[in-house]
Amino acid sequence: MRDVLAWMRLLTDPQDSTAVVRALSRPPIELRQVELARVIQVARRHTPFGGAGKLDLVLGLAAATESPQVPPEARERIQRFLELHRAAAAELDTLAPDAFIARLIDRLSGRAVAELDEHETTPPESEPEPADQLEATLQLLREELLEGVARIGGRLGELRLDTDLDISHGAVRYLELLKLSALLQRPAGQSLEQALADVNARLLAAATPLQREIFQTSTLDATLGQPGGAGGGKANGGGGALARASAVAPREQHSLEPFLPRKGAGLALSASDIQTYRSCPLRYKYARVLRIPTEQTVHQRFGIVVHQVLERYHADGGQTLAQLLAQLDGGWRRAGFSESERDRELLEKARVALTRYHARLGEERSEPVWFERQFSFRIGLHHLRGRVDRVDRVGEGDAEYELIDYKTSRPKSAEQLRDDVQLSLYALAAREDWGLKSSRQAYYYVLDDLKVPVVRDERDADAVRGIVLEVGDGILAQEFEPTPSHAACSICDYRIVCPVAEGRVAEPETVLDMSL
Ligand code: SF4
Repeated sequence: MRDVLAWMRLLTDPQDSTAVVRALSRPPIELRQVELARVIQVARRHTPFGGAGKLDLVLGLAAATESPQVPPEARERIQRFLELHRAAAAELDTLAPDAFIARLIDRLSGRAVAELDEHETTPPESEPEPADQLEATLQLLREELLEGVARIGGRLGELRLDTDLDISHGAVRYLELLKLSALLQRPAGQSLEQALADVNARLLAAATPLQREIFQTSTLDATLGQPGGAGGGKANGGGGALARASAVAPREQHSLEPFLPRKGAGLALSASDIQTYRSCPLRYKYARVLRIPTEQTVHQRFGIVVHQVLERYHADGGQTLAQLLAQLDGGWRRAGFSESERDRELLEKARVALTRYHARLGEERSEPVWFERQFSFRIGLHHLRGRVDRVDRVGEGDAEYELIDYKTSRPKSAEQLRDDVQLSLYALAAREDWGLKSSRQAYYYVLDDLKVPVVRDERDADAVRGIVLEVGDGILAQEFEPTPSHAACSICDYRIVCPVAEGRVAEPETVLDMSL
């Protein structure tokens, strides 16, 4: 039933990525997880995000079938999905609702797939010559690179923690383009395998560690070695490369290693990554490894706007309430809120909250010294990074600082925050990265004008180090077993994909959280 529901959702909204992912993972498509991760990665590069972070994954899938990064078997499964999608979309407009549902169930159970095979699949094209295949791959990569330049460039100004990953992917695309060009111009008589080893070694010598990781886990070389791939065939001496590709393939098929958020020998982790993994490892896999896009809720958008307004107000050296409210009006328009009653109420709520924020700021005895200050430091092999919303100097000199994180969620008491990792991590970051001797921490619940101090000591610092190492070990070992609970599942964006969520959780709670 949930398969039918997923198909209904994606047919009415192709930007419903979680529904598309469920349809891809389930019969009759059954795309493997590793291929799913690769396809989402390619689709993200090929397809512009719409409003509120939406990605048209169906459009992205069509682009993925053209990419040399997607192996032939996965390409066939995607083509099967697209054919099924085309057929079902046409029937949605022409059949009566119950006839449509019955027909969809037939298609998903495979009863109608035989018809698709007979009538709707196109005969395979004859394979082009090897040199032409290499040239065709070069053309595809060139187009992909040029599209990627605009997309990556456009995202450099966004508040994101994985910008270096984006840049490295772009740089690796360029290195692969150089590789193909070098292979096309290799000396007469040199085999593809010999040239490939030599060119790869030269390119790797010029790459950063992160780029090397991406470069070495790309499927391009495997594609070059396959019959029908970019450089295969005896004429090109591709037999050795084919054997190598075959040796590599089985390991890759079962491992999500290339998709882990690697940085050097460890992982790139944020406080939110750690919280997500601890709440449910499977949810972490969907969000950070497969990177399934999810649509922002109106309340998430609200939280982001309030957060950005405060950031811009302070960055511009704002002083007056009028300046703060003018920032809100601008940010509200840019976020695409409407004139509906619900949105007008939210705007009023933001105005009231920011007016109180401004009044409180004027009364504080502490002095705000940094806003959105970034940190980056290591625990073991892992790189921890993030930003602290505001840092106040309390008292005279540089004796003590207060690290403040804004929240638009419902307030929690100090007792409820006893096991909170985020502020413990920030306290450690202030010491390790910024060299602050001492700090206090607090959450500031903006909508309620309530500051909740969270006391942390040396034992908390040791505990948080242990948590980071444990989470890092779990991710590196690809331990992504679900740990369902009402608290985690009721706010999880991946319930339609999750096999254990079926029938056990209600609709998500409304949560206003502006943590990025
Ligand atoms: S629905 Fe629950 S069990 Fe499934 S991924 Fe989300 S949090 Fe984990």
